[in-house]
Amino acid sequence: MSFSLRFSPKVRHLLVLVVVCVLTLLFFWRSESSSAVSIPVETFPDKRVAGNHASADEEGPVQLPVTAEPGVSEAGEENAFAEAIEPQPTSVDYQIQSGDTLSEIFEKQAIPARTLHQLLEADAEFLALETLQPGTSLRFSFDSNKQLQSLELELDPARTVTYSRLEGGDFEHELVTKPLHWHTALVAGDIQGSFYASGLEAGLNKGQVAQVSQLLKNKLNFRRDLRAGDTFSVVVGEEMTATEATGNTRIEAIVMHRGSKNYYAFLYSDGNYYDESGESVTPAFLRYPTKRHYRVSSPFNPRRLHPVTGRRSPHNGVDLATPSGTPIMSTGDGIVSRIGNHPYAGKYVEVEHSGAFKTRYLHLSKILVKRGQAVKRGEKIALSGATGRVTGPHLHFEFHVKRHPVNPLTAKIPTSAQVPEDGLVAFKRQIRRQMAQLKQPEQAPTQLARRSEADARGRREDWTKLCKRPGQCRYNTSSKQ
Ligand SMILES: [Zn+2]
Repeated sequence: MSFSLRFSPKVRHLLVLVVVCVLTLLFFWRSESSSAVSIPVETFPDKRVAGNHASADEEGPVQLPVTAEPGVSEAGEENAFAEAIEPQPTSVDYQIQSGDTLSEIFEKQAIPARTLHQLLEADAEFLALETLQPGTSLRFSFDSNKQLQSLELELDPARTVTYSRLEGGDFEHELVTKPLHWHTALVAGDIQGSFYASGLEAGLNKGQVAQVSQLLKNKLNFRRDLRAGDTFSVVVGEEMTATEATGNTRIEAIVMHRGSKNYYAFLYSDGNYYDESGESVTPAFLRYPTKRHYRVSSPFNPRRLHPVTGRRSPHNGVDLATPSGTPIMSTGDGIVSRIGNHPYAGKYVEVEHSGAFKTRYLHLSKILVKRGQAVKRGEKIALSGATGRVTGPHLHFEFHVKRHPVNPLTAKIPTSAQVPEDGLVAFKRQIRRQMAQLKQPEQAPTQLARRSEADARGRREDWTKLCKRPGQCRYNTSSKQ
């Protein structure tokens, strides 16, 4: 017997009405609650993305917590929403984390590998994508079709590199530098044990200690000549924007007081170091990084035009036709500042020399030095090869003065042994001021230099990079510190 038969027709009608009402209410409640979460959620490929900016206007997609219940279809509302809002150009900020690789970061942003390679190709003459380290900020800008239009890297608080897409898909490199000035601080100490330990104790960083040793090594033997109680003072310049330190430092003046004698080195405006009588304290640079002089297979040309695309495609070094396996020498005393493996530049070594000079050696088959190692002028640092994208074995050799590439074969590199005659008056005036600065360690606080050392360690030294395959360099924070 059926249950409904027990009710009178009137009651049955009422019951049906109630059921219909409840169902209707339920339907509207459901659709209302689901519409509250059906706004398309801009899912970030990674939680660490710091922000999302619509470049066209301020109204970017809104990120809402997802609370949709299972079984509720949202397809209809989503389509309606997609029609209401046109896709907008977007940009995504990302900060490099320890353990990241460039290709993983690009994958997370759904950028094709081909685009990464086009970027790396544009980077070959600059190696800016090779300087990425934990803390470096990236900004990806996409057009409305989600195609990457530009990549911005904040290398330090003063320098931003932008790779912008050109017609045809290639990228162009541009470096923008904020106005800079140098702030100076005095670091002073006395010798207790080695100069290395005493220098670190006083507040110099490892690179600065190595540089002081290199600058004075022709005047005194750091291992044999120094005694407990000898003193040293170093004027350290700290590169600043209007508001903050960039983390770059330079040594501007040194005095080592040993017994009754003072040993000096002063940085002059030509980027070289001289003693108090204006004599160069470092030997002249070698012009060539090889014993034999090889044919120039491609000259230095910052305004080179690409033969096919016609766009500017600078050649920031000189190509020397070295057969694979040719020993490559550092052309000056210095510290190995970078080694790497770039898909286009191949295996490379960069050496920072005292003062304003830097050399780079690309397409190597074998690297014989470590990062942070002190090297001498003429010291073998690598074997040449044909790594990266090359048509044949050669050495690509760069010489930078004050961060700008110059022609290594013709540039006025410090081959002069003295301060040039027309600069002597200015030099004497400069060293009088710096000698006074060096003499007053008690009055000059060293905190600033200590801070800059901490900054420098944080920004420059406290990371390592594993780079088994090009484009796969993994940026790790060192656990040693
Ligand atoms: Zn080249």
